[in-house]
Amino acid sequence: MRRILVAGNWKMNLLQNQGAALSQALAGKYASCAVEILVCPASPYLSSVATTTRGSAVQLGAQNLYFAPQGAFTGEVCGDMLKDVGCTWVLVGHSERRQFFGEHDELLAKKVAAGLQHGLKVVLCVGELLAERQAGQTEAVLEKQMAGLAQVSAEQMANIVIAYEPVWAIGTGVTASTEQAQQAHAFLRGQLKSRYGEAIASATRILYGGSVKADNALELLSQPDVDGALVGGASLKADPFIAIIEAGIQAQTQKS
Ligand code: PEP
Repeated sequence: MRRILVAGNWKMNLLQNQGAALSQALAGKYASCAVEILVCPASPYLSSVATTTRGSAVQLGAQNLYFAPQGAFTGEVCGDMLKDVGCTWVLVGHSERRQFFGEHDELLAKKVAAGLQHGLKVVLCVGELLAERQAGQTEAVLEKQMAGLAQVSAEQMANIVIAYEPVWAIGTGVTASTEQAQQAHAFLRGQLKSRYGEAIASATRILYGGSVKADNALELLSQPDVDGALVGGASLKADPFIAIIEAGIQAQTQKS
């Protein structure tokens, strides 16, 4: 039974007091929870969110890391530093990193490996552009992006989550239909099966991301291969994010 994970990617939003208020609201409501909850604030605020969420069910993740363990890499942050400030998770390969910062699969494979080496759980994000979907290339793109797992052993897969985020659905208000989401997730699970075998494929969580909101979350999360949500815009305020967490709890109950 895969436990649903609801993750909020705050991106480059929310100043310290806003993030503190939001994380306090979440931590106050969820001392424990049937689903896993994760928030990923901007890196300057990881410590302060760690303080407000400590002892609650709200886990802390970073939005990015660099693969080197330390050294002369101005502006970068390594896995040890993320652990040191209280992160247990890191996002790797978000489409905005791929699109705006030129991150490619080879680099991302190193980042995934570095995150795992430093004891972090890694959410590897994959997803096709609109033009790629329209050209019938969705599966080829997803297969190629799964190269982010190139250095991950079968034992390490327990600390990997895949996030399917069609780029055309991120921040656009256009959500993939439940059929499109389920189809892509089933394809990704097939990819996991061919890489790692049936047991690991069926134990690995695959999140959906792309304009998830309170009113579409339950339908998406009820799909058999959708094991959670990676949420951008709707994670920036307590009420909509809590509504998505509650949909996750409902979906988890239905699936068990
Ligand atoms: C995201 O940034 O990962 C995302 C899915 O954003 P949104 O929910 O705003 O589409």
